[in-house]
Amino acid sequence: MVKRNILLNPGPATTTDSVKQALVVPDICPREQEFGDLVAGIRRKTVDVVNGGDNYTSVLLSGSGTLAMETCLSSVLGQSDKILIIDNGAYGKRAEQIVQVYGMPHLTYRLQWGDFPSVDHVEELLKQNPDMTHLFMVHHETTTGMLNPLEPIIALCRERNIITVIDAISSYAGIPVDLQQTPADYLISSSNKCIQGFAGIGIIIAAIDRLEATERIPPRNFYMNLYQNYHFWKTTQQFQFTPPVQILYALDKALDEFFLETQEGRYRRYCECYQVLISTLDELNLTCLIPEAQRSKLLTAIVEPEIPGYSFNELHDYLYQKDITIYPGKGAKENTFRIANIGSIDKTDMQAAMTELRSYFSTLQS
Ligand SMILES: *Cc1c(COP(=O)(O)O)cnc(C)c1O
Repeated sequence: MVKRNILLNPGPATTTDSVKQALVVPDICPREQEFGDLVAGIRRKTVDVVNGGDNYTSVLLSGSGTLAMETCLSSVLGQSDKILIIDNGAYGKRAEQIVQVYGMPHLTYRLQWGDFPSVDHVEELLKQNPDMTHLFMVHHETTTGMLNPLEPIIALCRERNIITVIDAISSYAGIPVDLQQTPADYLISSSNKCIQGFAGIGIIIAAIDRLEATERIPPRNFYMNLYQNYHFWKTTQQFQFTPPVQILYALDKALDEFFLETQEGRYRRYCECYQVLISTLDELNLTCLIPEAQRSKLLTAIVEPEIPGYSFNELHDYLYQKDITIYPGKGAKENTFRIANIGSIDKTDMQAAMTELRSYFSTLQS
């Protein structure tokens, strides 16, 4: 048995023992048919998580979520295209940094990290900029725990034929998304957040017609061009370059466990953990950064209290000794620290973690 740590950081998340065990498999060459079948199954399952049906495909990449963001952004804009980026957190900002590295035309709708994007303002920006062809938005902004308005933004972009690139890295498999009802063109995720696998695989769920149309765009890079990766699968059923074989076996297991639990079941479990967290925060008079209605319930940004003797690092170390990991804040409009409730944890784990949180704060009061 491997020691069980409770990760309350925003991913990599706690994994089940069975997912850990799935790493240990006989050695296999990833160009064998047997491995191709495994990957074909994973691609199918990753589309099914968000009900992509037959009009979506999945491209898997060896790398973390940011690599999937960079792959998508660097591959789907043509030479004369322009992208509107909504920046209300570190990941919106990261998308901007990526397009800047590639020198791609863009406009940023910049908000304070912790402010909710206005759909009317997005519409206004699209009207003022008729040359806009794409839009990037983070679904769950992990910086603040904010759930951005996915449905209305997708609807708005559909009306105007704007291609949507959605970073759903920290919401995918956590919060229900149905691509038949919310037809994002590109939805990005990774293997180590709410899908409860290990880090190492980026996932891009792409509308097939949109993806096929990118064939004409000259690649801006070699390893991570989206169309090339997709094309290679279509023709060979293989990863173009050596993938992290064992991580994929574990991801396949994690996907199976997702479908056993069901999306509704997983969301319910996460919400139960969130409720335990929130009632403890209330009890301790700790304040959340953003209003309840805007919260993802997967991660909470907590305003750093002005209690004499409080220090985030000491709180972190106190919990870490007890095998519980929490996370610092990152550039939000107020100083915060963050507690996520994703991964293979339940209400009982959260209650145990909250007992330790209470215990830390009681040491300050004495
Ligand atoms: C975790 C995360 C990423 C990717 O981060 P990596 O460190 O590359 O895994 C991107 N966007 C969001 C919203 C995230 O939560």
